[in-house]
Amino acid sequence: MCGIVGYLGKNQAAPILLDGLSKLEYRGYDSAGIVVRDGENQAEVVKAKGKLINLSEKTNNGLDVKGNCGIGHTRWATHGEPSEVNAHPHVSDDMNVVAVHNGIIENYQELKEKLTKKGYSFYSQTDTEILTKLIDYYYKKYQIGPIDAIAKTMVRVRGSYAVAVMFHDYPNEIYVARKDSPMILGINDGDCFLASDVPAILKYTRDVYYIDNLEMARLHNGQIDFYNLDGDIVPKETSEIKWDAAAAEKGGYEHFMMKEIHEQPRIIAETFNSVCKDDKIDLSSVGLTTEEIEKISSIYIVACGSAYHVGVSAQYIIEDLVKVPVRVELASEFRYRKPMLTENDFVIAISQSGETEDTKKAVVLANELGANTLAIVNVVGSSIAREAGNVFYTLAGPEISVATTKAYSAQLIAIYSIAVEFGRVKGTIDEAKYKYYIDEIKAIPDKVEKIIESKDRIQWIANKFAYSHDVFFIGRGLDYSICMEGSLKMKEISYIHSEAYAAGELKHGPIALIDDGILVVSCLTQEDLYEKTTSNMTEVKARGAILLAITTYGHYNIEDNVDYVTYIPKADEHFMPSLAVIPMQLMGYYLSVARGIDVDKPKNLAKSVTVE
Ligand code: GLU
Repeated sequence: MCGIVGYLGKNQAAPILLDGLSKLEYRGYDSAGIVVRDGENQAEVVKAKGKLINLSEKTNNGLDVKGNCGIGHTRWATHGEPSEVNAHPHVSDDMNVVAVHNGIIENYQELKEKLTKKGYSFYSQTDTEILTKLIDYYYKKYQIGPIDAIAKTMVRVRGSYAVAVMFHDYPNEIYVARKDSPMILGINDGDCFLASDVPAILKYTRDVYYIDNLEMARLHNGQIDFYNLDGDIVPKETSEIKWDAAAAEKGGYEHFMMKEIHEQPRIIAETFNSVCKDDKIDLSSVGLTTEEIEKISSIYIVACGSAYHVGVSAQYIIEDLVKVPVRVELASEFRYRKPMLTENDFVIAISQSGETEDTKKAVVLANELGANTLAIVNVVGSSIAREAGNVFYTLAGPEISVATTKAYSAQLIAIYSIAVEFGRVKGTIDEAKYKYYIDEIKAIPDKVEKIIESKDRIQWIANKFAYSHDVFFIGRGLDYSICMEGSLKMKEISYIHSEAYAAGELKHGPIALIDDGILVVSCLTQEDLYEKTTSNMTEVKARGAILLAITTYGHYNIEDNVDYVTYIPKADEHFMPSLAVIPMQLMGYYLSVARGIDVDKPKNLAKSVTVE
C-alpha cells in the first residue's frame, strides 16, 4: 500500500521526489527513501525510519542529494518491521539494480532460497530485496537488457507489484512494471514522472499514461515507451487529468481531513449533477441501459471499510425504493465464499481508490460468474474501473486524509442516484415521487453546509470525551449503518475503542459493557424507529452511560433524556446518512486533535489497501 514516485528530466530529482512522496504519505508512512543519480555517477540512496519529515531533514529537503534521475518510496510494511534497513529503495549487492516496490511478492521465500544457492545474501527482511536481486540475477545470467530481465522476473514472481527500477548500466533511465498495484506515468516538456497515484504528480503534469497489468515501461529522454511481457512495444496515448492541482494541497486548513469535510457540499452537488440533467437522472455515462436495469433481479454490494458502510446504507435504501433484494458483503468474504450469481444479478463494487485488492478480486469473480458489474470509484482509470462492466465516477477529487469523508459522501450520492433511477425504470417510483426525491437530493449540499457551520459545538462536546476508553454508537435501520461509519471514524483517527450496535441488539450482550461514564452516541433520523431507539437509550442511561443524541430539528423533548444533543436538518429519510454522518466525522476529527494524534496519518493504517 506504500507510495512510489519517480522523476527523470531537466530538474533536480530529489526535491520533486520528496514533494511527490508528501502527497502519497497517506499510503504508508513507517519509513521512506529515495535513490538519485547524477549522470554516470554512482546512485545515492538515502533512507529514514518514520514519517517523511525525517527523510526531508536528512537530505536538507532534497537539496543535498544531486542528480536529475531518481525514484522514491514511502512504506507501509508488509514484510519486515518498519526500520531503516527494511525501507526502500532496495539494492543488489553491487548497486547494479536499485528498486522501489508497492505490493507483495508471495513466493519470496522460495525465490530467496534459489538466490541464496546462487550466492546472493540478504540484508533486510523484505520481499522487495528479493525482487530486486532476482532482476539483477536474470540481468547478469542471460546478459540481457533491463526490459528482458524485468520480464523474466515478472514471469517468475507471484503476487502484486508496482515496481520502479534503475540499472547502473543505464544512467538517465527508469524502468517500471506493474501487476495488480496502482501506477500512473506522466510526461511534460521533456520531463517524465511516475507515481502510485495522481496527486503526487499533479503539480507537474496532467498528461498521464495508464500502464496495464503485466506491462513494463522505459522512461528516457523525455519519453515513455511501453512493453508487453514478450518485450514488444505497446502503443499508448496520454489521457488528461482534470483534477485541480490545488485539490492536493491543504488550502489553509490544519489537516486534509478538515479540508475534505468542508469540501463535501460542493462534491455532493457535483457528483449528483454529473448524472442529473434538467431534473432527470441519466445513467448512460455510467454505461447502464434501461434494458439492463429492467432485468436486474437482485443486487450484491461488495466493498471494504467505509465503502462497506455505504453498502449497508444502500441495502436499506435500494430495497425500499426499488423492491429488489440487496445483499451487502465485505469484499474479502465475498471473494472466498463461492457466491451463486446469475446473469440477472447485479454486483456493485464501491472503492474510493478503485484499487482495493479484495474489491477488485470480487469484481473479477462476479464477471467470471456472468453477473453484470458496476464500480463506484473515485479514480479515473483505476483497476476496479477497468474491471467492471459499468463505472459511476464519484467526483470527490483527490482524497488525501486516510479517514475518508468526502469520498464516502460522494458514494452515498451515487447510491441515491442509482436507487431513484432504478426505481423509476422498474416502476416502483412514480413521477411525483421521482421529482420529490431529486429535489431532496439537490437540497442536501446546503443542509450539509449548515451542519458544518455548527462544528464548534461538536468540538466542545468532543473535548469532554478526549479521555474516553470505550464509545458505543447505536441506531436502528439506516441509523445503524451511519453508526457503523461513525464508530469507524472514532476508532481509526482517535484510537478510542468503539462499537456500532443495532440498538435492539444491545441487550443481547454488549449492554454488559455499559458502565458509569461510557459515552453512547445514538442516531435517530428515522421517524418510525425513533421511539424504539429512545427506549434503548433509556436502558443504557439507567446503567450509567452518558448519552449524546444526533437527531433532527423538532425533537426537542429528547433533551429530557440525554446529556448532549446535536440537531441536524431534516431530509427525506432515505438520504439522512448524508447529514447524520457529518457530526460523526467532526466528532472523530476533534477527538483526534484533542488527543494529539496526527489526524491525516493514523498509525498502522494506509489509505489505499492494495494488499489482501
Ligand atoms: N512488501 C513491501 C515491503 O514490505 C512493500 C509494501 C507495500 O507495498 O506497502 O516493504
